[in-house]
Amino acid sequence: MSTPITAVHNRWTRIILNMLWAILGILIAGQLLIFISGTTIEADFPSQQYLTHYVLLPDTILVSLLTLLEYIIRKLSSYADFALFAGANIMGMVITLFIHLSVIAAPIVMILPLLVSTLMLNRRYLILSAVTGILFSSTLIVLQRESFAMIGLIIINDSVLFCTAMTGLGVILRGQELTSSLEKSVNSEKDLLIRNALMDRTTKIDPLTNLYNHKTYHEYMEKLLAHSGDNPYHLQLAVIDIDNFKSVNDTYGHAIGDIALKSVAQRIQEHIGPDDFAARYGGEEFVIILTGGDSGKALEQVEKIRQSVAATVIPELDGRMITISIGLHECLPGETKEQAFQAADDGLYTAKKSGKNLTVVQ
Ligand code: GH3
Ligand code: MG
Ligand code: MG
Repeated sequence: MSTPITAVHNRWTRIILNMLWAILGILIAGQLLIFISGTTIEADFPSQQYLTHYVLLPDTILVSLLTLLEYIIRKLSSYADFALFAGANIMGMVITLFIHLSVIAAPIVMILPLLVSTLMLNRRYLILSAVTGILFSSTLIVLQRESFAMIGLIIINDSVLFCTAMTGLGVILRGQELTSSLEKSVNSEKDLLIRNALMDRTTKIDPLTNLYNHKTYHEYMEKLLAHSGDNPYHLQLAVIDIDNFKSVNDTYGHAIGDIALKSVAQRIQEHIGPDDFAARYGGEEFVIILTGGDSGKALEQVEKIRQSVAATVIPELDGRMITISIGLHECLPGETKEQAFQAADDGLYTAKKSGKNLTVVQ
């Protein structure tokens, strides 16, 4: 999968290549305009030769070059940057070589690879393009011009290329500064989000059982009751207590007691739905809030939990089985969370008195 940074990079690769195609389009339009007007720049310059030497030949080279670049950025994307850099330099040289001698500014076309390297935010390519451009166009001027005009032209040409390269370098440095400060702020925002999520978890979750903790139960129950005031819906509260747990601790030790506690929490977790809420209320007591259906459905659900706890073999307990007692209460409109808890707890008390391993609806 491509990262946002790669996606931006690929988009700019595309923009730069489109720009090269556009430059070629403008070049062809200019060449055709000269040809159609019937006047080549010098009077003794035959039109036919202009068409083949100054139009068809360079344009064929340039179309082939850009087609090759298209292929590379699509199929060999890891070479795309280098291909664009090299392609822009070659394109500049081809245009310069095939512009008619009388176009004095011809070597300035070598600004093109400088602009491309700047857009690519690549300092190395920019410096290489500047050196190539200055050497290439200076050599060309030396070869083509009369000696008296040569020095001046070289100075003008090279200083234009040099100043453009320096401007490009400034743009790249600023771009890199901006990118790195943006990356830093994105990273610190990400760190903060992760830290917040972890903090959120540690303040809400009981570390032994991985269920919600006592505080979160109270917060959630308060919200639910407040909400159900305007919009009544089924809300059942179950209070669960492990039977004879003190004797489990006394017989097997606290560490094994903890294993039994975790096992009960797992059974609870397995039998509640995505909209239900389970918390460790404290010690070996749990609460479950069910909102998925009526009291019949809630009873069925907590009975499944009770039966599955009673059927779970915990190897550390040497064959001794763990059971739980449950008090279940359907919250009535207008009831407070204390009243609801008291009712469910009364059910639990009755279950304990009636022999344990039972669910009592209160
Ligand atoms: P009952 O059937 O009436 O509930 O009897 P019980 O022995 O379970 O009585 P009670 O609920 O009062 O006992 C609670 C015991 O739970 C006391 C304590 O040793 C144990 N306990 C509470 N928290 C933890 C814990 O985090 N780990 C362990 N291993 N034991 C705990
Ligand atoms: Mg207890
Ligand atoms: Mg108990």
